[in-house]
Amino acid sequence: MTPVLIVLNAGSSSLKFQVFDMPDGEEPQLVWRGLYEGLGGDARFTVKDASGSILDESSWGQGEEIGHEESLMHLIAWLREHQEGRKLVAIGHRVVHGGATYSGPVLVDETVLQALEALVPLAPLHQPHNLEPIRIVRRRLPGMPQVACFDTAFHQTQSDIATLFALPREMRDRGVRRYGFHGLSYDYIASILKDYDPRLAEGRVIVAHLGNGASLCALRNGRSIATTMGFSALDGLPMGTRCGAVDAGVIFFMLREMKLSPEAAERMLYTKSGLLGVSGLSNDMRVLRTNAATNPDAKRAIELFIYRITREIGSLVAALGGIDGLVFTAGIGENDAATRAEVVDGLAWAGLTLDESANGTAGPRISSGSGSSVWVVPTNEELVIARQTRSVLGDTQARLAS
Ligand code: AMP
Repeated sequence: MTPVLIVLNAGSSSLKFQVFDMPDGEEPQLVWRGLYEGLGGDARFTVKDASGSILDESSWGQGEEIGHEESLMHLIAWLREHQEGRKLVAIGHRVVHGGATYSGPVLVDETVLQALEALVPLAPLHQPHNLEPIRIVRRRLPGMPQVACFDTAFHQTQSDIATLFALPREMRDRGVRRYGFHGLSYDYIASILKDYDPRLAEGRVIVAHLGNGASLCALRNGRSIATTMGFSALDGLPMGTRCGAVDAGVIFFMLREMKLSPEAAERMLYTKSGLLGVSGLSNDMRVLRTNAATNPDAKRAIELFIYRITREIGSLVAALGGIDGLVFTAGIGENDAATRAEVVDGLAWAGLTLDESANGTAGPRISSGSGSSVWVVPTNEELVIARQTRSVLGDTQARLAS
């Protein structure tokens, strides 16, 4: 039997999954990937093979609403029907917050789960959804090994100073510090960079994860030394619907002068701001690019996005003491040549020059000349979860499959 594992990424009304074969001693191999969306309402299930061809689809209408538990059990049943010659040995979960305790993936037991639940106040919009499937699996598939893989863990290599806010000491004692997120993506880029350029992998690299969520990470020799996200996934760059860094005084203004409830203020900062808020049109870069020539607000949203990225890269160049390479990744970073060109244009002072034709075809190397290099590298967070889950299972994997 070939051991397989499921990688789960649960959101408030969605459940993304990937299923990996785990051949002994080899890189995990993607077999199926899919999505449950619209959970709690008109839900849909889609599953594709590794090449992206749709294999199966279902939908649930009014009166037959399904939630995370039903979708998870539907997935397990679907797997049993299709897994011929394979045996499910573990489930790896994306969990946004590992706090100060977890600097790597961890096998979940009741004690770990309680420690992760205690971190809910640090990531109230994501952590509860990430933990829900873990509770469901413990109840419905008791004994199934589950591994939690964290977005924060990769940044545990930051120095104490890089993580410190200038707040009274008791705030630090309560866990109020810079953590950093998108760590699974940065872990993947750090692991694959040697295949693109072995010397660069040991150098000073800034990775721009530009998707619906967006952040930057400064890598030295493949380890995070600074990142733009901090205590929460709100900080740093403007994003699809999140504001990025704002003066903390803005929050007091919202609460005191605008009389917004904390929940309404939070909703504005997480879901109505960023590219959507500034453009008043969309959080999707494709829509903004299409409309920028005729819609001044769409143009301003893009300009602000580029301006903030360029400024924050400058800050990370200072933290690194120079830059040997810049890597673009995630939805916008991988697909939007104009964003890459505009960012690199603003970094000429740091010795970065664009190869326009390479940029048009996503490189992978998109710089010209002998200065710092610029790359486009597709990220793969799910593969990192699969790798981490296997590393935690270690020798027990073979035993579980037999
Ligand atoms: P992600 O969160 O990494 O899936 O990235 C999602 C974002 O990538 C979307 O909101 C789009 O703005 C952006 N995106 C995806 N494809 C393209 C494209 N071809 N051109 C520009 N932006 C894109």
